[in-house]
Amino acid sequence: GSGTPVLELSNVVIHYGRIKALHGISLSVQAGELVTLLGANGAGKSTTMRGISGLNRLTEGSIRFNGEDITALKPHERVARGIIQVPEGRRIFPGMTVLENLDMGCYGRRFESKAAYGEALDEVFELFPRLGERKKQFGGTMSGGEQQMLAIGRALMARPNLLLLDEPSMGLAPMVIRQIFEIIAKINAGGTTILLVEQNAQQALSRSTRGYILETGSITKEGPGRELLHDDAVREAYLGVA
Ligand code: ATP
Repeated sequence: GSGTPVLELSNVVIHYGRIKALHGISLSVQAGELVTLLGANGAGKSTTMRGISGLNRLTEGSIRFNGEDITALKPHERVARGIIQVPEGRRIFPGMTVLENLDMGCYGRRFESKAAYGEALDEVFELFPRLGERKKQFGGTMSGGEQQMLAIGRALMARPNLLLLDEPSMGLAPMVIRQIFEIIAKINAGGTTILLVEQNAQQALSRSTRGYILETGSITKEGPGRELLHDDAVREAYLGVA
């Protein structure tokens, strides 16, 4: 699309003490896009996500959201603007039920009415029927795939303007990974703008509008998802085929 990007990172540098984790990365996400940031372990994917959600401070560069410079905003101020992150490792509340976990998603993002809350819940249960069947089950007793669905459902309850997904496929079986990515594509088709961080090149790039390749803190390649998927260097590095 054209016009102001939803998200725009310009020359973002992030350090952990003296370690430079991001070396000045620039990327953008347009309204309605599903964009993948693909990278190996330690490339800086989570660091990028945490920079966007405000959990990591930038040492250089800037982040704009719908044209507004949000570089100095606190994490909760970014959440209030609809920047909602599903963290790596899911981090659901194990001692809370499915319904309680979903309610935590809209904590601080008040619904205008009870009906609006009910509609949001129904939408989540439509995407994830399993969650609707297990409303009273404790989060901690659900399978890895179900917990990932719960984490995504919880984020949707916050009505994201930008959904940040940090390695949703991590630790899941191939069949479950396919299901999760089908649902991610469906959420995107429903109008939600998504930035996805992944190592699973096949699933992520095949469904993405565009992708970026992140290598040791720098973006080395950018292009339409399917184009990157057919790039020889990408195939060799991320799919193990030459
Ligand atoms: P993974 O897929 O393994 O989670 P990643 O691409 O998300 O990897 P990051 O977690 O962003 O990578 O890490 C990027 C670099 O920053 C790595 O070299 C890592 O060791 C370093 N790093 C991350 N967190 C910290 C920290 N809290 N303190 C020091 N170094 C860190």
